[in-house]
Amino acid sequence: GMLPIDPICENYVRQVRNCIFSVVYPTPFKSKTRLVAVSKDVLENILDLDLSVSKTNDFLQLVSGEKIVSGSIPLAHRYGGHQFGSWEDQLGDGRAHLIGIYTNRFGERWELQLKGSGKTPYSRIGDGRAVLRSSVREFLASEALHYLGISTSRALSLVVSDDDVWRDAFYNGNIQRERGAVVLRIAKSWFRIGSLEILAHYGELDLLRKLLNFVIQEHFPSVDVKDPNRYLDFFSNVVSGTAYLIASWMSVGFAHGVCNTDNFSLLSITIDYGPFGFMEAYDPNFVPNTSDDKGRYKIGNQASVGMFNLNKLLQVLNLLLDPSQKQLADQILERYATLYHTRFKELFKAKLGLLGEKEGDDFLVALLLHLMEETKADFTMTFRELSEITQDQLKNLSIPQEFWALKILSKQELFTDWVSMYLLRLKSNVNDSDSRRRKRMTSVNPRYVLKNWMAESAVRKAERNDFSEVRLLQKVLQHPFQKQSTAEKAGYSSPTPSWARDLKVSCSS
Ligand code: AMP
Ligand code: MG
Ligand code: MG
Repeated sequence: GMLPIDPICENYVRQVRNCIFSVVYPTPFKSKTRLVAVSKDVLENILDLDLSVSKTNDFLQLVSGEKIVSGSIPLAHRYGGHQFGSWEDQLGDGRAHLIGIYTNRFGERWELQLKGSGKTPYSRIGDGRAVLRSSVREFLASEALHYLGISTSRALSLVVSDDDVWRDAFYNGNIQRERGAVVLRIAKSWFRIGSLEILAHYGELDLLRKLLNFVIQEHFPSVDVKDPNRYLDFFSNVVSGTAYLIASWMSVGFAHGVCNTDNFSLLSITIDYGPFGFMEAYDPNFVPNTSDDKGRYKIGNQASVGMFNLNKLLQVLNLLLDPSQKQLADQILERYATLYHTRFKELFKAKLGLLGEKEGDDFLVALLLHLMEETKADFTMTFRELSEITQDQLKNLSIPQEFWALKILSKQELFTDWVSMYLLRLKSNVNDSDSRRRKRMTSVNPRYVLKNWMAESAVRKAERNDFSEVRLLQKVLQHPFQKQSTAEKAGYSSPTPSWARDLKVSCSS
């Protein structure tokens, strides 16, 4: 069938020129809305509000896009981007509204944005809405990444409506009625590589300089806006920030899924959660997004895709650099691979509890990953169980029954060799004890990540108006490094249940 597209859309959608934002109000839902989840941490510790505020009707009206705070002018941001490798011209906030900027008691400046709040001049053929399932996933995943210690946008609230939203969830011609939802998300800044690309593409260089200077002034205190080399310093920050961010994704098995330049933050924070996935069985070819049939954004490609995206940023900056600066910019980008590998190594050494620097550390990490690849042992639980098992148990190869991931790993013939090397290496840790090692390791190796089946289980209940698992997951994922009985009961550290083996996630959202 046909997607029900509001005819207003054709008159409304614009090729916008010479600006960075368009003023546009959210479109309130026609039906009743309901606040189904709220982040107490964001509310109290970032927005300086009391939890009781979230019980009020004013709050619901604000976070559902029904009312705008007085004095605020809602905006949709104009950006472009490279999607799956090719220039897609103008994209922009097609279903998001910046509704305010709040400076909190710590002097931190936070941008509040609604997602799923109606059409904008950038909606193209879209309806401006977001469905409940993708909103649940964004709400839970962004909060989960934050508590894993990874730089990310946060989510204040999740609102569901009864408004019909039509989606072809698996692009198989099966269009179904779903419900519209809105997440209020916050970030220090929502500017992306694509924010600059669109200005470069249309030769709007004055605006490009203006935006860059603004971003540097607001968000890069270490860069002097008066310095003629400021764009180089800025680039250097984005290069290292991107390398660090992607290494941190890899350290928890997170695949973003849609690493387009319009989804890559200039502040190197994780933004725009769509068909992301946490890798289960270790597999560098893991592709979370079924729409990504060539596997461009498979987990093992993320580091090189980061390089691709930084190259696109470099092409933009080159318009503003003189020849000698261009040469320096190339050298800055060349450091990316080393920055990434150094950070990756640091993180994985910490995951194994290794102190200091020894020859063979890289090999120890690489061999473990190889054994995981061969056996398809669970990535999260292998590291977690290595954090919980004692060296004595490992030495005697007496792996407790509940250590299911290590049991699988131990089927590989090189496992015992790896264990001997590992134990020998742990001996060279200075001033260490086994309990200290385990404490260190359990604080960096999560027991709970938002695996796809967990999100799916919460979504299925949410679609029946049961939001209990959304709230349970939200609670559990606030303490991913702490064993919790409710989480154990729900099976969150157990093997993936058989009903969920062939779950798929697409771009449809
Ligand atoms: P994404 O792949 O989610 O990062 O989105 C790519 C572009 O499509 C962005 O410009 C979005 O604002 C836009 N977009 C995605 N879904 C919709 C929708 N339902 N309505 C309008 N614009 C959308
Ligand atoms: Mg996006
Ligand atoms: Mg999206």
